[in-house]
Amino acid sequence: MSADLECPICDADIPLESDASTGDLVLCSYCKVTFKLLKKKDKWVLVEEYEV
Ligand SMILES: [Zn+2]
Repeated sequence: MSADLECPICDADIPLESDASTGDLVLCSYCKVTFKLLKKKDKWVLVEEYEV
């Protein structure tokens, strides 16, 4: 199952690791912003790290 994420800032595709879990930090390689990965119901969302 491919479940790529989209960067909320620059809309770049961010590959979701198969062993990803909630709370993981994900770096967008385009805008160099680090996001925290959160699972909401059955979908993944990215939040900017400083909001946590
Ligand atoms: Zn980005």
